[in-house]
Amino acid sequence: MKEVRVRFAPSPTGPLHIGGVRTALYNYLFAKKNGGKMILRIEDTDQTRFVPGAEDYIVKSLDWCGIKFDESDYVGGEYGPYKQSNRKHLYKQYSDELLEKGCAYIAFDTAEELDKYRKEAEAKKETFIYNCESRKYLRNSLTMSKEEVETLINNGTPYTVRFKIPENREIVMHDLIRGEVHVQTNTLDDKVLFKSDGMPTYHLANIVDDHLMKISHVIRGEEWLPSMPLHVMLYEAFGWEAPQFAHLPLLLKPDGNGKLSKRDGDRLGFPVFPMYWVDPKTGDTASGYKQSGYYPEAFINMLALLGWNPGTEQEIFTMEELIDAFSLDRCSKSGAKFNVEKTKWFNHEWLMRKSEEEVGKDYQAWLKAEKDIDVNLDFAIKVAGLVKDRVNFVKELWDQSFFFFEAPTTYDEVTVKKRWKENSAEMMKTAAEFINGIEDFTAENIDKALNDWITGNELNMGLVMNGLRLMLVGAGKGPHIHEILALLGKEEALKRIDAGVKVLG
Ligand code: GLU
Repeated sequence: MKEVRVRFAPSPTGPLHIGGVRTALYNYLFAKKNGGKMILRIEDTDQTRFVPGAEDYIVKSLDWCGIKFDESDYVGGEYGPYKQSNRKHLYKQYSDELLEKGCAYIAFDTAEELDKYRKEAEAKKETFIYNCESRKYLRNSLTMSKEEVETLINNGTPYTVRFKIPENREIVMHDLIRGEVHVQTNTLDDKVLFKSDGMPTYHLANIVDDHLMKISHVIRGEEWLPSMPLHVMLYEAFGWEAPQFAHLPLLLKPDGNGKLSKRDGDRLGFPVFPMYWVDPKTGDTASGYKQSGYYPEAFINMLALLGWNPGTEQEIFTMEELIDAFSLDRCSKSGAKFNVEKTKWFNHEWLMRKSEEEVGKDYQAWLKAEKDIDVNLDFAIKVAGLVKDRVNFVKELWDQSFFFFEAPTTYDEVTVKKRWKENSAEMMKTAAEFINGIEDFTAENIDKALNDWITGNELNMGLVMNGLRLMLVGAGKGPHIHEILALLGKEEALKRIDAGVKVLG
């Protein structure tokens, strides 16, 4: 195989959808797996759709995901610049080349004229397309004389350059995921390659840049499949070797009904963007995986399996493992349904695999930011270590551990009704005395001491433990009593028992 060079080529028209992140990911995995290069190219030729901040958002999001580029305007590279607006001067010669070769033509039809044709066709329940039939009567260099064309151009009349789709041909293409794809050229329209504003369209710039940047494989979303015949014919017209193509399956809504769109996310209750986004024009905001508390490892792991499978039962993959296992022939043709619960499950799995230190650090920061609670790192780490396996997100640790940071002021009614017996108060006073006497106040020792005390005195285990839990937590949940006691410390624990007995009596 020749050197693998792949590119992720987003247009900075807004935040990057998770489908786009998956395209970037698969390109990255493919490049790394095959010892190739991953390139970031910004396709910003459509200036009417330019959104300030979008490029920065794309770069930061991919960085958060751990998708690294070997070449881009940010890290450099031999084939730059990597932003199409900075390559503007390059494209006209290629459009001219196609004109000279007779593979393209000049069209003077104005937007208004074309709109008129469209409307007329609609009225007859037909669709107007600029193709091998209509180009024979429209205002272009195929129907006009050379002189007429020259005069119009010299007068500054705006024009576009269109590709002249060959008539009556069957194009046979190969897609690495879909296999052979056949298209009849008469069904295709003569796409604009060069616009009247002096800028190339996506199609021309994309092909020229893929060629100049020596791209070996074009891996992109299924929405570009209809462009593949045009792209293949453009390579042919230039006499260039085409890259290999792979069109990835769509990401579908959770119910499988249609493509997961940019608008779906917050409407369906989960993010569709990697990071939080504020629209610079409208001020509208959209949630992101990062700010929703997802680990990039979990986000990437989830995305990797939406459209690709390893052929084994393995579900949890590090980036290195993904690189190792990835291949295009295990990508599916059919759309992949997004699954919200599974996405949370991935975060849970990754949270469990994180060290207590890392989760503790994040929890310490969360406590400060969300609850204005200052806690030393060592304590946050111990608390996180006790409860982290029970949650999906760091923010959910609070619900499992709030009692480590604030003494109960109320006691859960249902638990009290069920667990607080007539003799509970007496039992708690005796237990407090016993606890006060425990010298070595470590979880392990407390566990043993309490057990020996309860069995040795034939006390009711449930009565003691349920009572203590109510006193310490204020509810019927939480980790083992000896763990709670050890972390709270003797003084705080006794205070809580005393206060609880006074309230519940
Ligand atoms: N600029 C196109 C996009 O926004 C790139 C498509 C392609 O990869 O060819 O998705």
